This record gives sequence, C-alpha cells and structure tokens, in this order.
Amino acid sequence: MEFARIREFESPLERYMAEIIRDWGEKYVIPHRRNFDEDWKEHRTIEPALEKLMVDYGIQTAVWPEEFGGWGLGSSDYFGSICARVMEEIGRYDTGIAVSVGVTLWPIFVIAVKPHINYDLCAEFAPLFMRKKLTMAANAMTEPQGGSDIENLDELKGKTIRTTAKLDGDEWVINGHKLWPTNSGGVADLFGVVCTTNPGVPDEKNFAYIYVPADLPGVKQGEPYRKAGMAADKNSDIWFENVRVPKRYRAWGEGLDAKYFRIIISTGCLGSAGMALGAMENIYEILFEKCSELRYRGRPLKENTAVAAVLADIAAEIEICRSAVYTYARMLDRPDYYGDRFSAEMIARGRALKLKVCDACCRVAERAMDLLGHYGIDRNYDVEKHWRDVKIIQLWMGGRQLCQMDVARYFYDCKQL
Ligand SMILES: Cc1cc2nc3c(=O)[nH]c(=O)nc-3n(C[C@H](O)[C@H](O)[C@H](O)COP(=O)(O)OP(=O)(O)OC[C@H]3O[C@@H](n4cnc5c(N)ncnc54)[C@H](O)[C@@H]3O)c2cc1C
Repeated sequence: MEFARIREFESPLERYMAEIIRDWGEKYVIPHRRNFDEDWKEHRTIEPALEKLMVDYGIQTAVWPEEFGGWGLGSSDYFGSICARVMEEIGRYDTGIAVSVGVTLWPIFVIAVKPHINYDLCAEFAPLFMRKKLTMAANAMTEPQGGSDIENLDELKGKTIRTTAKLDGDEWVINGHKLWPTNSGGVADLFGVVCTTNPGVPDEKNFAYIYVPADLPGVKQGEPYRKAGMAADKNSDIWFENVRVPKRYRAWGEGLDAKYFRIIISTGCLGSAGMALGAMENIYEILFEKCSELRYRGRPLKENTAVAAVLADIAAEIEICRSAVYTYARMLDRPDYYGDRFSAEMIARGRALKLKVCDACCRVAERAMDLLGHYGIDRNYDVEKHWRDVKIIQLWMGGRQLCQMDVARYFYDCKQL
C-alpha cells in the first residue's frame, strides 16, 4: 500500500536516495533500533549506523557543490523534494538519526544552496566532509534565555541573542553559551553559530552567522543530556570563550546573514515534517501487521468496526500529510514560481506544515498506543519509541507556539504578536 506521491515530481536523485536509505535502514538500523535508547551516551551502535549512511553511502557530501566533490543538492531543481524524502525515509527507521543527519546538512544550506552559494566558504569547509570519515555539523541557535526568540527574527530582529561576535583585526572573537544544538555533546566537527555584533539592538545587520570548527581553542561542549527519546541525537551545552575565527568565516555579512539564515527555518520545518511523516508510516506498518495478527472476538483486530474506524483515521492523516509535505517541498524547489525560500511567505507555509504534520503525528502515535494496548507500551514493538520521539519533533524550533505566531502574522497580517 502506498500513500500519495506525485511520481512525475520524483527526481532520479530522490529515487536513488530513497533506495539507498531503505537498504541502509534494513541492514544497519532495524537490527539495533531497540538498543538505541540505552546507547544515548556512548553511541556504540548508533555511530556505526550513522557512519554507514554518511560516509559509505555518501550523504554527508550531498549538499556541497559538485566542483568541491559534493552531489550538488544545493543547486538542484529538486532541492526541497530531496530533502523531504531523505528525512521521510530516515524517519521511518529512526527520527533521532534523521535529525542528526538533517542538522549536518542544515547549517551548510546558508552557504551552499543557490542563489546564495558562497564559493570561498564552500572551498574552505567542503573538504572536511569529503574525507572518508564521519563528519557532522551543528546549528547553534538556542541559548539559555530562550530559543524561540532567536528564531523569531521578524519580530525581535536578533535583539535577545547574547552570543557575541566582535571584530578584532581580521578575526571574529566569539563569546557565548548555546543549549541543545543537535550533534553537540562532542559529535559535530563544525558549528554554524548565531551571534550578534551589537547585543540588545534589534537590527538584522547585527545578526551574524559564523562558522566555527569544533576543535578550536575556547570551544567547550558539555555531556549529552538524557531526554525522553531520540537517543541518536546528542544535545548539550556549548560554550564559546574568546574563540577566534577568520573574518571570512561569517556567512555573508550585514543584513544578508539574517536574510539567508531564514532558509534554516523553512527547511527546518520541512525536515521536521518529513521525518514525522516517516515515523507515521512506520507506525502504520506496525499497526497493519499487528492488527492483522491480533484477534478480538475471533476476528483479526482490523476487522472490528471500532478499530477499523481508528485505522482509517490514521491512514487518512498520513495520506493528507504526505500530500502537504511534498506540496511545500515542491514550492521550495521552485523559488521562481513561489518566491524565495527565505521569504516570510515560505516561512509561514513551513511553520503551518510543521504545526499540522507534528500534531497529526503525535495523534497517530497516541492512537496506535490505544489500539495496541500492552503491545503499544511494550518496547519490543517500537510504537512507544516513535510516540516518545515524535513529541520531541513538535517541541523544537519554537514548538507549536512559534509556528502559530508566524502563521498568524502572515495569514492574518498580525502586527503586534
Ligand atoms: C531534540 C532537540 C533538538 C534540538 N536541536 C536544536 C538545534 O539543532 N539547534 C538549536 O539551536 N536548538 C535546538 N534545539 C532547541 C529547540 O529549538 C528549543 O528548545 C526550542 O526552540 C524552544 O526554545 P526553548 O527551549 O529555549 O524555549 P523558549 O523559547 O523559552 O520557549 C518556551 C515556551 O514558550 C513558547 N513560545 C515561544 N515563543 C513564543 C511566542 N512568540 N508566543 C507565545 N509562546 C511562545 C514555546 O513554544 C515554549 O512552549 C533542540 C531541541 C531539542 C529538544
């Protein structure tokens, strides 16, 4: 059974990536998935799975331009669709791995996606990702005083950012404290760091997006946090203490950093919705199997009207969510038709997508738990794992509330939120 997919929009690269991810997932995730929770700190089983996908299957090179050895995804007319598909396919196996992979590509989007490709910085950092060695990145936005406000650029214009970047000759000197970035806790090799050049002043010119190699003096990371699920994603504190990087490591410069950083928001929403969709599909697969096998009144569970009605609702949620994810992805593919990926309109559409797909996904996981009874909460059946994981997708990037604010601002022209 296949949910809605517009085949004529499926590029050869998307199809290829879907195939390799399924091959990888069956071989390197499924046999270990039930042990991932216990592996949250050491990543003894998680890291080899990541390494296979990123290095051997080559995903860590995907976004970089072809002239630097990458697959050139950033220049593809199917950029959004491929990103969504990669997240959907990995999300079927493990949304923790999906976010860890997605966030490695994420900070690179600011400098490697057309029309904003910074060839000098690509030349500088792409070689790191071409090594035959697991190489990860992190996008460091959230700070102890709040994450949502930093993403809430249209309203606050970077006013609350406390991580500072001061120019000293030809170098930026960075000081600050970040919380929660995916792939912190010692995983990432490169950070994209949100800084301000003028703390407390609401002006996008002061918003600086600066690349910081993780091994520089003054960069310190904490131990990974222990959270409800998503063990494959390590999150932690990062401290920057008088960290010096060359001036050219700033992505674009005054005004443009804030402008192109917004692709982080639109693609972050797409990726979140894509991986939530993948999790829903796996829940559907598990339900299909268990509801055919388990019996109530001598009949397979799925042949009972009350159960069939819930199953129908679940299938309908997935059908609709998949259509919505790829509609938005296709809009991101074609800025010539739908406007820049960093426009307020595309951000509002992305926030709407994340809001509704995550809501649907949490509902699907909850209903699956209801239907399966003790099989639902049993860690041998994987549904409770998705149930714990998908709640986390709903919470990040400002949670439901920031999504609602951005949607209301655009669709109702609210000016004072
Ligand atoms: C698994 C995971 C991965 C993460 N990965 C990253 C990452 O890669 N990089 C990174 O920088 N951060 C990351 N985060 C952090 C995450 O993005 C933040 O936790 C999130 O944005 C919320 O920020 P906060 O926790 O500081 O809460 P706050 O921003 O303090 O928000 C608190 C509450 O207020 C609500 N709220 C926010 N804005 C408004 C508003 N305008 N009006 C009304 N209510 C509002 C929020 O929804 C929330 O309920 C990650 C978090 C998790 C759990």
